[in-house]
Amino acid sequence: MEPMQPADRTEPATLPYKSTDENLVASFRLQFNLYFGLATLILLSPYAVNHFIAGRVAMALFTSLIVLITAVNTVTIYRHKRQPIPFAYLYALIMVTLVAGLFLQGESIIYWYYPFAFIVLSSVEHRQARIMLFVSFALLVPTAFYTIDPPIAARFAATYLMVCVLGDVVVALLDRVQKQQAALAITDPLTGALNRRSMLTHIENAAESCRRGLGTASLLTIDIDNFKHINDTFGHHAGDDALKAVVDTIIQRKRKLDNLFRTGGEEFTMLARDLDKEGSIAFADSLRAAVEQSDILDGEPVTVSIGVANFEQNESIDDWIRRADDHMYLAKRHGRNCISPPFIAAVPLTEQTEKA
Ligand code: GH3
Ligand code: MG
Ligand code: MG
Repeated sequence: MEPMQPADRTEPATLPYKSTDENLVASFRLQFNLYFGLATLILLSPYAVNHFIAGRVAMALFTSLIVLITAVNTVTIYRHKRQPIPFAYLYALIMVTLVAGLFLQGESIIYWYYPFAFIVLSSVEHRQARIMLFVSFALLVPTAFYTIDPPIAARFAATYLMVCVLGDVVVALLDRVQKQQAALAITDPLTGALNRRSMLTHIENAAESCRRGLGTASLLTIDIDNFKHINDTFGHHAGDDALKAVVDTIIQRKRKLDNLFRTGGEEFTMLARDLDKEGSIAFADSLRAAVEQSDILDGEPVTVSIGVANFEQNESIDDWIRRADDHMYLAKRHGRNCISPPFIAAVPLTEQTEKA
């Protein structure tokens, strides 16, 4: 058949795929801090003024400082999409204010503790939030027992603990869902291989490691042979099952540090790390032979052609991918069920390939 053109690889290699999920979470936190800042400015400013009028100078100063810091953060987040004063400083200041408030103002300060727990859980990374809440509980509860009526302090301890624990559970569940979503977003639903979305990031990282002299990397473009014929003969469902079986066969043989991506309908790319030229050729041939030997479709051979390209210093990502593709087309032209380079005829697993 005519060599296929790599038409589905038109995206530039520099697309910002990197850590999209982390960006999403960071952007959520930034937005939350914007709303938190606005709410603080609207709700807390009157209290700061009131403290001054009532002559509660210490509380007035603490509250004003909280308002000032959130004002700086809010304006900068709004204008420059970044938070100049880290939340940890605000946390420390609010903690001091809440502890001092119990001494200076009594039990009415307790109402502020609950939104504080919510703000902590929403503003920082989960593990950090856990530590902050633990510290807040360890400081605030004894202070409450020391400064206010024990029955009220006990109720505060129970309800604050409940808010912290349930808040923690909600954040943990959301974290898990978010991680599952993130995994789904980069996984091909039919075969379980990684999808094209995450491929460029992996390839860029691998190339960068190679450029720095940290190991080697090779790309294997893998295309199932005569797949249209398989579909036409056995139907699309059997074709799907064959696709899954080919991927299973390949995944079973790859090492943990290698990644398999589905780049097209019946086309895959393996990014293999730390193999020299001979090693990657032997690895490719072991995959080819394994697919050939696994009894995927009764009586009908299912085979793959593989193009291998080891990363060469100074070449671009696009050139690297193109070389692997070109080699795969050469393997096709050479009769399929073989790898390129070199052209190896369809042979059973050799000792050499088993080693790989
Ligand atoms: P070659 O050996 O030259 O690669 O020939 P080929 O028939 O494999 O290549 P061609 O590109 O002509 O056909 C690929 C076929 O793969 C066409 C398309 O219907 C089929 N295909 C693509 N994605 C899927 C899929 O998800 N499931 C199934 N069952 N078939 C698919
Ligand atoms: Mg094909
Ligand atoms: Mg193809």
